[in-house]
Amino acid sequence: MEKSEIIELLKGNPAETGLFKKADEVRKKYVGDDIYLRGLIEFSNICHRNCLYCGLRRDNKIIHRYLMSDDEIFEAAVLAKKLGYTSIVLQSGEPLSFNIKKFLELLKRIKNETGLIITLSMGELEKEYYLLLKEAGASRYLMRFETSDRNLYSYLKPDSKYEKRFECLSWLRELGFEVGSGIMVGLPGQSVESIADDIMLFDKLKIDMIGIGPFISNPETPLKNFNNNNFELAIKTLAVTRIVCPKSNIPATSAMEALDDNGREKALMAGANVIMPNITPYNFKDKYILYPGKSIFDDPYEYSVYLKNLIEKLGRKWGKGPGNSRVKEGL
Ligand code: SF4
Repeated sequence: MEKSEIIELLKGNPAETGLFKKADEVRKKYVGDDIYLRGLIEFSNICHRNCLYCGLRRDNKIIHRYLMSDDEIFEAAVLAKKLGYTSIVLQSGEPLSFNIKKFLELLKRIKNETGLIITLSMGELEKEYYLLLKEAGASRYLMRFETSDRNLYSYLKPDSKYEKRFECLSWLRELGFEVGSGIMVGLPGQSVESIADDIMLFDKLKIDMIGIGPFISNPETPLKNFNNNNFELAIKTLAVTRIVCPKSNIPATSAMEALDDNGREKALMAGANVIMPNITPYNFKDKYILYPGKSIFDDPYEYSVYLKNLIEKLGRKWGKGPGNSRVKEGL
């Protein structure tokens, strides 16, 4: 799709352009009716960076910082298995340093004892670390670039380097990870043209999993006074992304649900095929607040039943296989 066509769809009224219907058809044709559930474990909220939009930024002194113990993380992984999820996502802030040896042992233990597919989301690390994580059993890695606009990136992530982000993504690809990335939609200073560039970049980089969430201002950040009315543009972005990147896995993100009670459902009907139910233990979940409105009360068992019913209601199937990337497999 040409950039001008993407912009037209992002600006247009979906009822008139038929965007959501088209995206749903493309989803069905290229990735099928299966919806894959990936248990999200937010194992630490410690972060040394200071991104302007994020509740975990180091200058936020209000939140209580935590790092789950290895046993707590392992138990959460076992819960994912019991719930029937085939993979987990271990997510944290970006650690300045961590005990890699201990973490590698944990990954091996999870892999050997549960067989779960392990996705990591822990930010920018050195290439040798990515290699060690891969060898210990992680096979997927998520790292959003948030925006491809260099100036906006530098403004939002003042202590991060744009080039380093993309270098990390290329290392991950080179090392054989399934690579996930994504953006926020509705960021202060972000144009529709810039979002179109982001979508074209997903395609160029052959991103295996693409996360798209609306920007939601967090009261504990410098962006607290910015507009939160970004749901519609975010879901249109998701739908166009499905059309441009038909084989990628695209989650219905929790941020969609934070802005709209039926946000996940709407995302699943506009091209999404993955859900990442949060299975972080309750006593930690309420401290991992990237943005307000996140649901922290879901009992993991009740939520899995709710999702099963939602999937059935939409006439879809709970994907019981690995849900590997069709981009990577060249299917
Ligand atoms: S977006 Fe990521 S790197 Fe930036 S402050 Fe939040 S957790 Fe840290």
